[in-house]
Amino acid sequence: MSSPESSTVAGLLAPHPAGRPALQDESGATTGYGRLRELADLAGESLRRSGVGRGDPVALVLGNGPHMAAAFVAVSSTAAAAPLHPGLREREFRDSLESLCAKALIVEADSNTPAAGEARELGIPVLPLERTGSGGGFRIVPVAAGRPERAGPARTGDTALLLHTSGTTARPKLVPLSQANLVSSALAIAKTLRLSPGDRCLNIMPLFHIHGLMGALLASLAAGATVAAMPGFQPMRFVRWIRELKPTWYTAVPTMHQAILRRARRNPKAVADSGLRLVRSSSAALAPSVLASLEQLFACPVIESYGMTEASHQMASNPLPPAIRRPGTVGTAAGPEMAVMAPSGELLPPGETGEIVIRGPNVTAGYVGNPEANAASFTRGWFRTGDQGLRDGDGYYTITGRLKELINRGGEKVSPREVDEVLLEHPAVAQAVAFAAPHDRLGEEVGAAIVLEDGASLTRRQLRDFVAERLARHKVPRLVLFVDAIPKGPTGKLKRVGLAGALGIG
Ligand code: AMP
Repeated sequence: MSSPESSTVAGLLAPHPAGRPALQDESGATTGYGRLRELADLAGESLRRSGVGRGDPVALVLGNGPHMAAAFVAVSSTAAAAPLHPGLREREFRDSLESLCAKALIVEADSNTPAAGEARELGIPVLPLERTGSGGGFRIVPVAAGRPERAGPARTGDTALLLHTSGTTARPKLVPLSQANLVSSALAIAKTLRLSPGDRCLNIMPLFHIHGLMGALLASLAAGATVAAMPGFQPMRFVRWIRELKPTWYTAVPTMHQAILRRARRNPKAVADSGLRLVRSSSAALAPSVLASLEQLFACPVIESYGMTEASHQMASNPLPPAIRRPGTVGTAAGPEMAVMAPSGELLPPGETGEIVIRGPNVTAGYVGNPEANAASFTRGWFRTGDQGLRDGDGYYTITGRLKELINRGGEKVSPREVDEVLLEHPAVAQAVAFAAPHDRLGEEVGAAIVLEDGASLTRRQLRDFVAERLARHKVPRLVLFVDAIPKGPTGKLKRVGLAGALGIG
């Protein structure tokens, strides 16, 4: 199933028996592998009739759940799926649709997402997704258009997934991941977790982020296992889902694990016999104390992994027993090759700290239309993660810091420059710098240091409301500090990394 010719999303689904459940909804209703393949074929035909061909970008703005999971599988089997965060504001949708050069946008038939209006203004056809059944059944209503230039099922080298990543630039970078990238990553994750057809993943991760798409969904489908695709993360319902749907594992970001722990502590008996085989954590650092509490609560191993959009998610992972889990580390390379690079480009031996670099079949070929970012991100064939770390003599990696400007808000990534730009649009703001402010529960929160124009007055609330009209909720600074001057680094240059410390909140 993983021969180069069949390294496609459709190829991943192909070998599994038609009657075996692939997707499941909250009520327990399932969609089998055979039905999922049919749904993908039908949706592929709707897309082709709408003028969408192989590798063409198709944006999806859909709520979490089995319909989103099925639609993602279907679109990525024919074209390039570009799931967008449903919480984006109008202009974020517009920027995303424009940077994608989207050929179509798929939204739920009864949705009132502002994405649809933006798409229409840009002349992008909006294709309604109609639910045709529980467990993920759907159809895409085509719009009449000429046949696409590149019709036919997706091939190995075609782009399957397009995701924006936050980073050092104000405009998010666009990461293309090929069919082969996704397949190699799905197989690597399935191997790390020893997934088998008997496994059932409880998916609580959003399906517009690489973690949920690969770590939960495609890894499971690669193994012929089942994904119980939940409407989102709801700590109150999590315990019930565990008891009723009887998953064998789940994957989440550390803040979700903490919320689950808080919830489960009130009623430990409810999850004592959960039957979970493993719990996985990724996308932000998992505190060893949280890992230990989870292992105690669920009586199963907790596997911390290290992932990144550009790597189609997993780069390293702690192993399952009997191999050793090392809390505080992200484990050993589990997908791509990994190394630690000095600023000179030389690879460093164990014990020395540098930039974590990766290369391999799951790594993107490079950002779309961004030669500067590509020149800065690839050195001697290695992709630079922007994370700082080291490995020990047994190959276990520890992340010690970050070289890139990024706020990791409990796994949700925010580009500080995007926030700066909006803050500076406010007429009362003379200077603004967003930064990663330490936060107990989230690890990091969006902070902003603001210098006001002479004589201007502005409350924190007013500024936050201003940003909230323009940016999705998770990007709105929760900590706003009005200062006389923004602290500079020793060279007189503004240094965003470490700004929290310089402002006395580090
Ligand atoms: P994303 O592209 O949203 O998956 O974000 C990737 C970034 O998340 C990485 O470059 C790291 O900075 C961070 N990250 C992912 N997994 C971990 C982890 N286990 N520990 C610490 N940081 C992590």
